[in-house]
Amino acid sequence: MNSSNESRKLGKCNLEWIKEYSSKEFEREFTYEGNLGAIYGGESTEFKLWSPYADGVKVNLYRNGDVNNKDEKDLIDTIPLVKGDKGVWSVKVDKDIDGVYYTYSITFDKKYEGAYDCEICDPYARACGVNGIRGMVVNLENTNPDGFREDKNPNEELPVCESIIYELHVRDLSSDDSSGIIHKGKFLGLTEQGTTVNNEGAISTGISHIKELGVTHIHLLPFYDYATIDETAPFSHDQYNWGYDPLNYNIPEGSYATDAFDGRTRIIELKKTIKSLHDNGISVIMDVVYNHTYNDDFCFNKSVPGYFQRMDKNGIKSDGSACGNDTASERSMVSKYIVDSVLYWAREYHIDGFRFDLVGLIDVDTINKIRKGLDQIRPNIMMYGEGWTLDTKLTKEDVVLSTQNHINYLERFAMFSDDIRDAIKGSVFIEEEKGFISGNTEEVDILKGAVMGMPYWSDSPDKVINYTSCHDNYTLFDKIFLCNEDISFEDAVKQNLLAASIVMLSQGIPLLHAGEEMLRTKVNAQGEYVSDSVRDADSVNSIKWDTLKLQEYYHVYEYYKGLIEFRKNHRLFLLDCKEQVDKYMHYLDTAQEGVVAYELKNEQEDIIVVFNAMKKAYELDLLEHQEYHIYINDEKAGNRILQKVKKEVAVEPVSCMVLIKA
Ligand code: CA
Repeated sequence: MNSSNESRKLGKCNLEWIKEYSSKEFEREFTYEGNLGAIYGGESTEFKLWSPYADGVKVNLYRNGDVNNKDEKDLIDTIPLVKGDKGVWSVKVDKDIDGVYYTYSITFDKKYEGAYDCEICDPYARACGVNGIRGMVVNLENTNPDGFREDKNPNEELPVCESIIYELHVRDLSSDDSSGIIHKGKFLGLTEQGTTVNNEGAISTGISHIKELGVTHIHLLPFYDYATIDETAPFSHDQYNWGYDPLNYNIPEGSYATDAFDGRTRIIELKKTIKSLHDNGISVIMDVVYNHTYNDDFCFNKSVPGYFQRMDKNGIKSDGSACGNDTASERSMVSKYIVDSVLYWAREYHIDGFRFDLVGLIDVDTINKIRKGLDQIRPNIMMYGEGWTLDTKLTKEDVVLSTQNHINYLERFAMFSDDIRDAIKGSVFIEEEKGFISGNTEEVDILKGAVMGMPYWSDSPDKVINYTSCHDNYTLFDKIFLCNEDISFEDAVKQNLLAASIVMLSQGIPLLHAGEEMLRTKVNAQGEYVSDSVRDADSVNSIKWDTLKLQEYYHVYEYYKGLIEFRKNHRLFLLDCKEQVDKYMHYLDTAQEGVVAYELKNEQEDIIVVFNAMKKAYELDLLEHQEYHIYINDEKAGNRILQKVKKEVAVEPVSCMVLIKA
């Protein structure tokens, strides 16, 4: 996501250095394998910063995390670091400095073109003051809530295709008044149990709602420390951001904490939240954005000028991310930084999965190193990402990027299927384009491949994330209105339910945009549908829980819940390799363009699934003397028999039907 608007020419950096950074010689001389950051050891803390071209590095110790403090005694000490091997500067401070804030001051010899002095936050900082300007030394042991040592992924044994993912923004869950949640816009909002619409005690909201829905994983939009929200007043002047503007990669975002000034609070509250979700049977996936930084001032990029980003020999930055810069993951110390960061979150915060933003910009070696590292921490940590092919300028030859086409270079990594997304509802880039649910049958073949969990780039369902909407673009319900002129509410609901049925009854890993199950819409003050609501107010973005009080919305929620329940109870929807799909799944000849039907059959079950996108009923012929049980029809979904039929049955217009042979 776009987060900064700067010129593509980097002002301050030495072009001679940039030419060297990706050379074998540089990597041999300066690749460091040890720990970096403020390494807290109780009686002492060791500071280590990688900065091969610096001429001097000092650590500044402060009493306060807020740079705008009026404390005359703010600066405690300034201590020089000593340069050692591999470009690493270090110093050991022999006292307990838990809770002391710090920055690094770095000087570069002015004889180099573009050299500068700077005071920066530690790229490896694990805690910080308000707005992430100063790091903080932290004893992480003291940030663990009760029982955190025993805390673990409640779905550790769950095969990946049995996961059902709910994609959620921390703030959206609770910010609407009707949520009944006390900690609005905060991590702790995700710990509140038994909340109800308007506190009326009838209809669940928040985490209770999500639990009842039956999903297994919550995928949270970025919650590392991002730049755009002023943490001193996060709810002033309609500030809002999705968080794709990374500032400090190894620290939680302060605006989600009840106190952004105290460096420990955000850590403690995030850990409490993760533990609470785990206690409620929900695994936590973290959205990580290593492919770009908020801007050139990213601290790592200042400590090693121009190193973190891809740019050509003239200092022109690559911009495949459309966010102003692309991360040079192919460089050894950038790669190490990304690997260290992901493993840190998995280890310290017990994160159960990672969603990589624009992973198509990151090299496969880095992603595979992460896979290997995660496997050593815990089994079954999920990895998936956006494998779009983007125009980026690599700084080395023979680098393979983690795009959909290269999925087989990666170990146990899934990618978003834009194939199923757009085949279902129409292109996200062409507002008026219709998809299958709206009667457009042009991409039925793409849809069929995607429903098998095998769009053209994948040979196995466990490599595919199936979805039809997420935080990007219009919500599903808004898109349906935009591409179907004058459609009635009732007909739009039918299309929405058909879309959800296709996602939930496909092979692969289903992902659901939070609120899709209650017809989420994003409309601004002018009454217009909002496509990318990255900076729109809470009033646009929040989940409107009180809509559930309306029968037509509650019905949609119940239908989604029923689809999930059905999926979970039938193993034939959880096939995880091509051999199984080929063996158990067969398309039926429907002789109708707008109807897709398939049979899933093994020794135990024989299931027929029909998606009818036509505006008329479809007569499905069944075996003459065989009884079939309907579990899903145009009205209801779930894991109980709705009706028993023989010989033939009508699949209502724009609806899904699922039958099982008696
Ligand atoms: Ca922040």
